[in-house]
Amino acid sequence: STAFAGRRYAVLGLARSGLATVRALAKSGAHVVAWDSDPAARARAAGIDGVIVHDIAKLNLDGAAALVVSPGVPLNTHPLVARARTAGIAIIGDIELFAQARSELPPHKVVGITGTNGKSTTTALVHHILRTAGVPTLMGGNIGLPILEQAPLAAGGVYVLELSSYQLDLTRTLDCEVAVLLNLTPDHLDRYDGFEGYAASKARLFAMQSPTHDAVVGIGDTPSAQIARSLSARGEHLTKIAPGVCMDQSRWPALQGPHNAQNALAAIAAVKALGVSEADIDRGLASFTGLPHRMETVAVRNGVTFVDDSKATNPESAAPALGAFDRVHWIVGGKRKGDDLDACAPYFGSVVAAYTIGEAGPLFRDLLTGRVPVVQEAGDLVTALAHAAAAARDGDVVLLSPACASFDQFRDYEDRGAAFRAAVEALP
Ligand code: ADP
Repeated sequence: STAFAGRRYAVLGLARSGLATVRALAKSGAHVVAWDSDPAARARAAGIDGVIVHDIAKLNLDGAAALVVSPGVPLNTHPLVARARTAGIAIIGDIELFAQARSELPPHKVVGITGTNGKSTTTALVHHILRTAGVPTLMGGNIGLPILEQAPLAAGGVYVLELSSYQLDLTRTLDCEVAVLLNLTPDHLDRYDGFEGYAASKARLFAMQSPTHDAVVGIGDTPSAQIARSLSARGEHLTKIAPGVCMDQSRWPALQGPHNAQNALAAIAAVKALGVSEADIDRGLASFTGLPHRMETVAVRNGVTFVDDSKATNPESAAPALGAFDRVHWIVGGKRKGDDLDACAPYFGSVVAAYTIGEAGPLFRDLLTGRVPVVQEAGDLVTALAHAAAAARDGDVVLLSPACASFDQFRDYEDRGAAFRAAVEALP
């Protein structure tokens, strides 16, 4: 993009999106200095034309157009970020670079989707409905390929972006034609000065929008409802998604459970705002197949269903999984995000046994003892699965819905889900 030509950028973090950023900037004629604390990541950037790999901490950043950082870099504690801030240099991410280059793309629209839970599902669903309707579309942001690595869409296309709060913190000028906030519950608080900071980060999605563009807000929790209230001047350009709306989900196989009703309603509102017809919306909802590791049935053996919900990395997202079944053998634990399982408590009635794993294992054992019929501290996933499979009978569900991050025992939630599937397949 000509927006970047001749300017200087420092890029910190060279994983997938960082590497795509470096390539895109260099290709546009920018001068790029790139760094990652991991030598292997640095090596990947070293061969790219127009890119200098050098420790940014040892450089003078004066005159740089921006410090571009990966969403994995903690903005509240990283020394280089503090230095750039003091020097008055913009600290941005790849989504902001995309936003700055939009004027050079063929006419298009952007849907931005954020929230604590349901982002990926809703993003994939909006993308799927648009594709079903014949609209040129792609997914980016926190899902799929880095946005700067994907080929631009033809005229009339719609970019559907999943935006984590980390990505929003690094975005200044993204004016979404449709902005969606699903929900807001405590998560990732280690990176924010409390819940307020986290909520403010999500609210910026709307602050960046022109007021005549559309907003879709789930109002099932108090902070989201507050944000919705602050947008009431949008009039018909604001759609509120109320909780507990009774709807027939029987024709949507991949969208079961109350949480998916919220996701589906948000997706419907978003594509309606883009002018998609009722018939196309209907077809899209019915043909959506869902995403891996989100309540994904990996096997049915002897009448026992094994469900991988590894993506449930906090209690709020594990709760709907418990609520979706009658008799659950629950594998729960990992690297915990809070001190309790209160969000899951309304569904303890469907738990016949809990098998705790990981760092949170001992705490969860104590929390669950006396509240569900059987509690066993299993330690690791394979042991937990062996216990659960031995105890489960016809009609039961063995559910991995850990309510925790995975980093104590796995690379990421995908790795944990894959380990669950492999262990299920290896059962005698
Ligand atoms: P995200 O991308 O925000 O992490 P996903 O769509 O990947 O969200 O879903 C993550 C987990 O959260 C899933 O395991 C699912 O059970 C749960 N979940 C999905 N949508 C919602 C929702 N709207 N509210 C609460 N929990 C949800």
